Amino acid sequence: MQAVDVLFFVLAPLGVERLVLRPEEPGLLKLGLEYMPFSHSLAAALGWGLAAFLVARLAGRPKLGLALGLAVASHWFVDLPMHTEDLPIASGDGLRVGLGMWKSQVGSFAFELAFLVAGFTILAREIGGDVRRRAVLVVWAMAAMQTITVFVAPLPATVLELAIASQAGFFGFAAAAWWIEQPLQSNPHAAGVQRLAKTPRNNK
Ligand SMILES: [Zn+2]
Repeated sequence: MQAVDVLFFVLAPLGVERLVLRPEEPGLLKLGLEYMPFSHSLAAALGWGLAAFLVARLAGRPKLGLALGLAVASHWFVDLPMHTEDLPIASGDGLRVGLGMWKSQVGSFAFELAFLVAGFTILAREIGGDVRRRAVLVVWAMAAMQTITVFVAPLPATVLELAIASQAGFFGFAAAAWWIEQPLQSNPHAAGVQRLAKTPRNNK
């Protein structure tokens, strides 16, 4: 699901997509997302989702492909309420949309936190034991990270520094997801956890 942000933070420092830093703005409005047709347009979201599905299908994993494809495409729709009017429909210069929740720093932070807790609550019904304990730790760590990012951490001086910090965050989270599942490797039939191995959460 985070794949298109990984792509954006590759394309932005390369100058293919355009991000300008606006230190005078509050919260996430500091990110001037000026041009991002390849990572964050609706057309791209659907295209990348379809591509992920087709690749997995060709590899003989159609169910995984469906989960991956939906996860990738969902990014745009989850971004929609948060972003200001910077999400392109197709071309980076055409119509751009966003419902602008980021304009309220506290409101968007609270909403994202609620989203995280809601996601965990749904997941918690499927998992137990060690997997659950690990997931709780990661949820706390994510909430702490988000608090620091939104309210404490200074804005990096350059787009490249911001990109590196963001990529570290994305891959750190992927590593944490991998770590959460490790008890399943030794005991894949532990109570109620089998479905976890098949959810798109694994493959962010
Ligand atoms: Zn995004």
